[in-house]
Amino acid sequence: MRKSILTLIAAASLAFGGAVHCQEQRTPSRSKPNEVVIDFHMHIPYHLIAKTLVSAKEKGLDALVFTDYNSADKFDRIAENKDPDGKQILPRYWDIRKVSNRLLKVSFPQGELYLPRGEEIRVTQPRKGDILVCGTEKSIAGGMDAKTTFQEVYSQGGIGGFAHLCAPLFYGLGEEVFLDVMKTFNPRQFPLFLEKNAQVPERNFDYNSQVEELARKHNVALVGDSDAHGNYLWEYQQVGVKYHSVIEGISPSDNLIEDLSKTFRNSPQSIRIKGNYNHIFRNAAWNAVSTMKNFGPKVKSTLEGLRQGKK
Ligand SMILES: [Zn+2]
Repeated sequence: MRKSILTLIAAASLAFGGAVHCQEQRTPSRSKPNEVVIDFHMHIPYHLIAKTLVSAKEKGLDALVFTDYNSADKFDRIAENKDPDGKQILPRYWDIRKVSNRLLKVSFPQGELYLPRGEEIRVTQPRKGDILVCGTEKSIAGGMDAKTTFQEVYSQGGIGGFAHLCAPLFYGLGEEVFLDVMKTFNPRQFPLFLEKNAQVPERNFDYNSQVEELARKHNVALVGDSDAHGNYLWEYQQVGVKYHSVIEGISPSDNLIEDLSKTFRNSPQSIRIKGNYNHIFRNAAWNAVSTMKNFGPKVKSTLEGLRQGKK
């Protein structure tokens, strides 16, 4: 019974997601020498990383940031090409080059992709919420307050951002925390970004337009991210279809982190967002599958999110 419901959800979601997918395929992002196409936010399980890289490259991406919760260790695992169970992550003949502790470059038959070290950190003060990180040197633990977390990101030479800032249900930290962080860390000196998140169904919620408004008002970099959760429903194929960013004026190179940091600080207006957001039906389908597979933890986190949303 459970299996047939899952199949039904998957089929319906694919039928729907597929339509969006085909439409998007006609105008894929193709990177030019003086731009970098990048997605800063995704959750991809180890067994789908190789497929995600191929799929993203075919859609024109130059760089991806894997942002596991409260850990940037995926970077080290990919560098060693061994998952936590000792299984190989990428085909042995692919070239994995560690440019530095902050950046990997993977070359494979379809092309090359840069993988900056990244993470999505859940802070607990002044409220619970998520911070995105790119280009740090090592993992930063969750559970600290927002400012201390940003301080740590910047002390490691990384770039910090607010995930889905205005969506309390998704653990967005909200405008007040953003303004407070900005007071301490001037975005002209410390690379900071806000995010238009593709998991926000824009037809039903205006969280993304609120974020856009804040970015414009305060002249802060605004990126587009898929926030793809790859475990179910072929979500990994949505990287490069759902929101991602085109950073103009820089090229994919071993200096990627420094170039991104400079762009965020000096010319946030040279970032364009491409792609689509999720339809609410696809969100619902993904959540239904996820809930059926992990009933207890899922219900707990949804309830917690609802409680957070009321604060
Ligand atoms: Zn996320």
